[in-house]
Amino acid sequence: MASSLTRTSLSLRPSTSSSSTKSRSLPTSSVSLLRRSPPLPRLGFSSSAADPSLSLHVSSRVCAVPPGKGVRGVASMAKKSVGDLSAAELKGKKVFVRADLNVPLDDAQNITDDTRIRAAVPTIKHLMANGAKVILSSHLGRPKGVTPKFSLAPLVPRLSELLGITVVKADDCIGPEVEEKVAALPEGGVLLLENVRFYKEEEKNDPEFAKKLASLADLYVNDAFGTAHRAHASTEGVTKFLKPSVAGFLLQKELDYLVGAVSSPKRPFAAIVGGSKVSSKIGVIESLLEKCDILLLGGGMIFTFYKAQGLSVGSSLVEEDKLELATSLLAKAKSKGVSLLLPSDVIIADKFAPDANSKVVPASEIPDGWMGLDIGPDSVKSFSEALETTKTVIWNGPMGVFEFDKFAVGTEAIAKKLAVLSGKGVTTIIGGGDSVAAVEKVGVAEVMSHISTGGGASLELLEGKELPGVVALDEAVPVTV
Ligand code: AMP
Repeated sequence: MASSLTRTSLSLRPSTSSSSTKSRSLPTSSVSLLRRSPPLPRLGFSSSAADPSLSLHVSSRVCAVPPGKGVRGVASMAKKSVGDLSAAELKGKKVFVRADLNVPLDDAQNITDDTRIRAAVPTIKHLMANGAKVILSSHLGRPKGVTPKFSLAPLVPRLSELLGITVVKADDCIGPEVEEKVAALPEGGVLLLENVRFYKEEEKNDPEFAKKLASLADLYVNDAFGTAHRAHASTEGVTKFLKPSVAGFLLQKELDYLVGAVSSPKRPFAAIVGGSKVSSKIGVIESLLEKCDILLLGGGMIFTFYKAQGLSVGSSLVEEDKLELATSLLAKAKSKGVSLLLPSDVIIADKFAPDANSKVVPASEIPDGWMGLDIGPDSVKSFSEALETTKTVIWNGPMGVFEFDKFAVGTEAIAKKLAVLSGKGVTTIIGGGDSVAAVEKVGVAEVMSHISTGGGASLELLEGKELPGVVALDEAVPVTV
């Protein structure tokens, strides 16, 4: 046992090869048609990112916004970045890096999607190149105490391959064994700690546990955007004991786009919000109404808006207790001068199933017994025309039940439209969750300006909330822009 904290030792199966690892790639046909959006001017964080593509950001500290378009939490989200630290501040230093390496594993413990590992690489490589000793920490899954199937051991081969060194793995995340391995770390070396959630104290943000984690290192880098909305020991608690505490390149890029580009967008700025329920997107819609010029709504939530306007919606998804809210959101859009577009036609189905019978009807003519599961072709056309005028687009939530091929057409058409717009220099931000799955399914993820790696965290940022894992980091030195 590492300490007074509860934990048992581990015996784990050998690590697996990375051969089954899925990398995000574009079909050749799409690549030839599209080019990556031109870089956004970088106005904030200093940029010495190891990966040049990550140094091309807009800033989350830009505060100039047109009258009437408010900024919430932007200034306080301007955080010091790992790129702001000098070589002298990093050389020989033990750096505690909290990453989000929570990758999916199959039953044989093979990584089935290595996106999160690859996303963590630029920060780690930057630290290695500057002679730091990297102590890498993450959670994996939702273990209840020490749970071998949630060990980080299967990640070691892929991480080593991507970093070009042999990553050392500890069987714990605190305690004497870890301390010995830290002491033996060479400059440029990487030690992967065991799953930090093997300790219940992690999610409780226990100060003693945080202190023990922090005692391993000289300074702290948070690159775990996916858990930045949680105040845990390794995301928030450690910052009380480590100075400086700074943002990694991935976290910084998420803030640059989800806060910076959204609060100070190149206009016209369109937001596309879909998904199942209006109740889960109220905060996002209200926040985006303060900032955007055009709001396109799709997904299951539209039927609550239709019903609020007195239309029949058959057996479509409706939140009866949100009818007034829908009416007030429509009124708010009007008063803010935002063009809010609801789909003019929908694809309806006779049951909620992939093989349901389907037809296209005007939004005002949904018969009893039928449910709307996608937006129709006229809506795709009018949405595409509206998007054609924009310079910044953010998308959160699918237009229909895209898990069923028959009802994925609207979502896929929007994904393809955004890919084309990206190629024309429009800033395209995919704000987490199912819209990320949709652009990946269509094979256009690589051409978007930014694909958020965090579902809950990106929703909270879009709602204008501050994230505890970000708030805890050192403030950036103010710059005049
Ligand atoms: P969210 O997590 O709120 O972004 O919602 C995503 C889910 O919304 C997906 O699983 C979609 O299948 C679902 N969805 C989208 N459109 C509809 C619809 N018209 N009816 C029911 N569910 C929908």
